[in-house]
Amino acid sequence: MVAETKLYDTLGVSPDATPSQLKKAYRKLALKFHPDKNSSPEAAEKFKDITSAYEVLSDERKRQIYDQVGEEGLSGGGMGGMGGMDGSDIFSQFFGFGGQREPQGPKKGKDIKHTISCTLQELYKGRTAKLALNRTVLCKSCDGKGGKNVKRCSTCNGTGMKFVTRQMGPMIQRFQTTCDVCNGEGDIIPSKDRCQVCRGKKVNNERKILEVHINPGMKAGEKVVFHGESDQYPDTIPGDVIFVVDQKPDDKFTRKNDDLYYEAKIDLLTALAGGEIGFKHVNGEFLKLEMIPGEVISPNKVKVIEGKGMPIQKMGDYGNLFVKFTVEFPPDHFATDEKLKDLEKILPPRPKLNVPRGVEVDDSCMLVDYDPIKHSGRRGHNGSGYYDEDEEEEGQPGVQCAQQ
Ligand SMILES: [Zn+2]
Ligand SMILES: [Zn+2]
Repeated sequence: MVAETKLYDTLGVSPDATPSQLKKAYRKLALKFHPDKNSSPEAAEKFKDITSAYEVLSDERKRQIYDQVGEEGLSGGGMGGMGGMDGSDIFSQFFGFGGQREPQGPKKGKDIKHTISCTLQELYKGRTAKLALNRTVLCKSCDGKGGKNVKRCSTCNGTGMKFVTRQMGPMIQRFQTTCDVCNGEGDIIPSKDRCQVCRGKKVNNERKILEVHINPGMKAGEKVVFHGESDQYPDTIPGDVIFVVDQKPDDKFTRKNDDLYYEAKIDLLTALAGGEIGFKHVNGEFLKLEMIPGEVISPNKVKVIEGKGMPIQKMGDYGNLFVKFTVEFPPDHFATDEKLKDLEKILPPRPKLNVPRGVEVDDSCMLVDYDPIKHSGRRGHNGSGYYDEDEEEEGQPGVQCAQQ
């Protein structure tokens, strides 16, 4: 959204033209209407216009001001470029000769940044947050002038600051101080003409409610910008109020761009012989999944549910949902030894143990349960992480061998 398009129209480009498109458009027109090539007075006028337009639009800061407030924003504060110039400056700059000029514009106020924390559910469905903003606004009663008959302070030339020199022994010190004639205001208002509402301060405080629209599918780091809604001060272009989206961690789902990741627990029987599992989706639905008998779900297997990820903004489409399975095995002694024999009828046979030829076999090893206190921490005195034979009492490997 731009305030007006006149300068873009002059160059025959759209308001979203890239710098290189602007440059191209200007070059074409400038060569056509340059006084050296075209002596008609209309051409001279046209050349002036396109050059002024390019001068503004090629300067990122000026373009921003123009987009926000239009030509009006460029006229004050020694902006220079509009109207009065003959274009030779920018023309020579453009074609590689001539000096640089750094124009001074009205200063831009500070942006206000806020973080807006959203749950994954909120980012899925979208939400509107109403947020109250306390800000400084130009006094409506006096139009930000402070009153009637406002005169620029001649002592400080309107800056509100003045330089003072003081003799300190042999030294002469020069320092800046608040102008005592205008009390740092920069201008002088006769007390009877002072605005009653702002008491001459030109600004008031205002509480404004901003409606922040979080669109479905928005991601952490994305911004919702309210252009020019920050504090207002005289002769200053107000900054923006920027809300930065943040995503609260979710205890069930992880998000990567438009995709979601879910870890589903599945029992061993369902993993081997099929059945039903289900879980609640971010969107509130309960997803019921049929596990088809015949397909074996091994631990950490990943399957995808297409189109069940996050909404993709402005596309009407959805990312994917990745489901990683954790297989829950039954507890120890879940079946009698006899019953376990039935498994041998169903499961593929055990692979035969292959003992390499010619090696000495130690069949006295024992597997003990892992004990975090006993088995972690010190592994040998030199910290190498390996079991050291000479330090048997201290180093305890996970697999213990009986003495022979
Ligand atoms: Zn006022
Ligand atoms: Zn002053």
